[in-house]
Amino acid sequence: MESVPVERAREILKHRFGYDSFRMNQEAAISTVLAGRDCVVLMPTGGGKSLCYQIPALIFDGLTVVISPLIALMKDQVDALRANGVEAAFLNSTQTAAEQVQVFKSIRSGELKLLYVAPERLLQSGDRFIEFLREIKISLFAIDEAHCISSWGHDFRPEYIQLGKLKTEFPQVPVIALTATADKHVRQDIVERLNIADAELFISSFNRPNIFYAVEPKKRSFGKLLDLLEERKDESGIIYCLSRASTDSLAADLRDEGYSALAYHAGHDKVTRDKNQTAFLNDEAKIIVATIAFGMGIDKSNVRFVVHMDLPKNVESYYQETGRAGRDGLQSNALLFFSWGDVQKLKNFAAVEGNSQQTAIMLSKLDTMAKYGEIRTCRRKFLLGYFGEDHTGRCGHCDNCTTKFEFFDGTAIAQKALSAVYRTDQRFGMNYIIDFLRGSQAKTIREEHKQLKTYGVGSDISREAWFDHIKELIDQGFLKKSDGEYPVLQLTGSSMDVLRGKTPVELVKEKVAEKKRGLVGESAPPYIQELFDDLSRSRTEFAKRENVPPYVVFSDATLIEMASYLPQDEGEFRRISGVGDLKFEKYGGEFLRVVREYCGERDLDSRISLKRRARKKTSQKRDTSGRSTYQISFDMFRGGMSISDIASARDLGISTIESHLSRSIASGELALGELVPIEKIAAIQKAVEECDNEEGRLSPIKEMLGDDYTYGEIRAVMASMKQP
Ligand code: ADP
Ligand code: ZN
Repeated sequence: MESVPVERAREILKHRFGYDSFRMNQEAAISTVLAGRDCVVLMPTGGGKSLCYQIPALIFDGLTVVISPLIALMKDQVDALRANGVEAAFLNSTQTAAEQVQVFKSIRSGELKLLYVAPERLLQSGDRFIEFLREIKISLFAIDEAHCISSWGHDFRPEYIQLGKLKTEFPQVPVIALTATADKHVRQDIVERLNIADAELFISSFNRPNIFYAVEPKKRSFGKLLDLLEERKDESGIIYCLSRASTDSLAADLRDEGYSALAYHAGHDKVTRDKNQTAFLNDEAKIIVATIAFGMGIDKSNVRFVVHMDLPKNVESYYQETGRAGRDGLQSNALLFFSWGDVQKLKNFAAVEGNSQQTAIMLSKLDTMAKYGEIRTCRRKFLLGYFGEDHTGRCGHCDNCTTKFEFFDGTAIAQKALSAVYRTDQRFGMNYIIDFLRGSQAKTIREEHKQLKTYGVGSDISREAWFDHIKELIDQGFLKKSDGEYPVLQLTGSSMDVLRGKTPVELVKEKVAEKKRGLVGESAPPYIQELFDDLSRSRTEFAKRENVPPYVVFSDATLIEMASYLPQDEGEFRRISGVGDLKFEKYGGEFLRVVREYCGERDLDSRISLKRRARKKTSQKRDTSGRSTYQISFDMFRGGMSISDIASARDLGISTIESHLSRSIASGELALGELVPIEKIAAIQKAVEECDNEEGRLSPIKEMLGDDYTYGEIRAVMASMKQP
């Protein structure tokens, strides 16, 4: 399907945006749009949805109209486009009349390539705006946050319904709808309501391998939060709270601890809100403590952690909020503090007045969220499963995958619990059963129950431990919770065998996290921190001068590449990901100077040879989510796992994983420096050259190098040397 427009798209990717290769379904979506066909693009937050319409916009003759509900974000998006030399503008209610007139002028003159508008603006005052659009050449409609059109989604906006008109009014203009919500119902609604029945669907994996998911019991949570912040010192993060009051007080407490934290919620006036948000975006305040009012459309790419102090209402919201971490692809954390108290509290909020059906949906979504907090299996598998995606369940990059659970024989405990449920006729909830087991004197315990032999048989075990045990028994299928508003514990088909002593039960002793990983998982690939800081200072200066957030100048990921590969001249600098033509022209000189000065003082050489050229597509064996076995190893490695962890998680040999990663090196996805300590590379290269054995055998090279060098390192260097 290689055609001229696709070639052109690649060129734009490199020259305008500074990237070497397309991600996920970007290329497929772009060529569909270029062929004039409609499509729906589902990609996780940070996946790179914007390029799917921005690149066609640059190839098409006319104007691309982008409909987005996120007024607050429009200016940033337009700034970011202009920083790459793309003619873009927005129209929304925050502008003065004069500003709007200016925008209309630029539309008419034909110089504009992209126009961002809010849906209400598009459909304002009858069809006047539509009429206006008719007079100019529209090449493409891009509907961002397209899930807003569905009442099934978590963010329904009635004004989106009207967008169905676009296809009827402009049948010849292709529509591209984009969202990070993968729900099937939502997807259906998008296609139906936008009248794009023939749209091609592009669903990308929603996996965010660089996010480390963890849940902690909501006890001593402030202390645990400080532990995380200590590991993430000076890094940027969002902390979500349920109430405005707790938002303010937590921000104040963090400031007392010396952190630059600000609060954000709808109770503040607009000036304060804008000020705090800007301080956060500009890295002046590292931490924002917020209600969920914050974040819609926050595009900040270097958010390193997202913490939920309270339970979110549903998995969709949770995934979207945590998705704001690590948009730049670097290691990031999602931490949730979980308690049953929160579940109860939210249940009270979940009722939708006079709509029992909607209430039931909300309650069941809440239940699923609560389950996430409780599981002892892979969090990533659970989250992806929720969105209909398969995962092996051994991601190696969530708290449960990195925790070794210790088991003990819990048969006697299980028998006590099961018989308590049985003796009280399976008509009571967890709290009652625990009180009953512990022989509580509370009035709530029925007199006739106090006469039973099982009453008080579990008084030697704490309430908390009973909770854990019973939840475990539910997880293992020896008990179940009934549905409904007041769930009761009931026996299952497997219960009797436990009571009769036929099935032994193992229960978890305690959660023992592996030492090497705390709340944070593993750190980012090696780069020179000191140089990164220097570069970051230059970035701040440019950003201030141009009145844009720092990441509009260059993302952290781009600075990290500079601080890893140490480019020494223009040619080398142009190979850094995220450096397009215009940015190179504007900032290249200064950043190059900073790198060279740093290297000059320390006698450091360029390491650009460790960065590989753009990879070529190869067809390989794939798993159910479409990933090749190499890709899976690579994703896990990217996700922060060590080679031996990947090997054990995948039940493969270490050398197999090493050869997978070597492939990623050969293809250019992985820099050699990430696998082999930089100081070893030259020696290995030399040994390989000197050995010069045709069949590429490793052992003679290994012999030459000695014990300090592993086979894996040698294989990786050889892979890098095979490249043209
Ligand atoms: P989304 O809208 O899906 O949340 P964005 O379009 O904002 O994601 O993209 C997230 C980040 O990834 C941006 O900084 C963007 O420039 C970057 N990006 C997008 N596509 C690529 C690519 N092919 N290679 C490298 N970076 C990319
Ligand atoms: Zn996992």
